[in-house]
Amino acid sequence: MADHPRFGPAGVPPKFRYINATLEDVLTLLREERLDAFEYEAIFWGGKPQIKKEDAEKFGAQAKKNDILLSLHGSYFINFCGEERIVEASKKRLLACATAAEWMNAYVVVFHPGFYGKKPQREAFRNCLKVLKEIVETMRNMGIRNVKIGPETMGKRSQFGSLKEVLDLCREVEQTQLVVDWSHLHARDGGRLRTLEDFRETVEEIERQLGTEATRDMHCHFTKIEFTDKGERRHHTLEEEKYGPDFTMLARIITEFKLRPVIISESPMLDLDAIRMRDTLLDLL
Ligand SMILES: [Zn+2]
Repeated sequence: MADHPRFGPAGVPPKFRYINATLEDVLTLLREERLDAFEYEAIFWGGKPQIKKEDAEKFGAQAKKNDILLSLHGSYFINFCGEERIVEASKKRLLACATAAEWMNAYVVVFHPGFYGKKPQREAFRNCLKVLKEIVETMRNMGIRNVKIGPETMGKRSQFGSLKEVLDLCREVEQTQLVVDWSHLHARDGGRLRTLEDFRETVEEIERQLGTEATRDMHCHFTKIEFTDKGERRHHTLEEEKYGPDFTMLARIITEFKLRPVIISESPMLDLDAIRMRDTLLDLL
């Protein structure tokens, strides 16, 4: 959990890839950019961790040394609202991610909960709630205590993960972490974040549902986003003025509510936009 607002990229930034930097080099390079968070991407993982325990531990120690807080983005191949066979495979995938997160000392496994499919939304919610409770129990039996699971607000209307659904899950399941993808919220709800007041209302709603501490400690994703009436279309860089939402507004809200979120940039510019957001917030402080 962050002691102050922290910023970092989702995965390895392109320019680090060109120089063939190892994962550990990436942490040093981020430190040089004065970034202090990193989301490790386990997005294509199956039912087993695809990193060795020893390497994960080394990576975690390196992150700590550089004062970079780690989170882990879980497998994309997860659907807790689907048929039984799919749900069982999804459980294994999330547990594999949680295991690796524990090894590297990542504080949260972010994940996309699933798709409604033909299910009514209430039923999808009940399914998801039941499965997450089972997963948390299994994590405890496996001795995974330092990692939280973080259902993310999703950008398409066909995806499970409205703000309300995510808040309800976080309220009802232990060992969960609120993950607010602001761009997804904006896209899903047809551009809901246009004014400072829109951001304020959202944060106030979170506070009503989860209390002040969980609100202050929220994990965030932020980019600009293009959407249609079905929701999310694609991510854009902060520079592109024709798209929203506007990070300056979130920065104002962060200072107003004294939030200390971890903010992960998922823009095509990854680290550069993380730096830009950090500097926007610093300017206000
Ligand atoms: Zn995500």
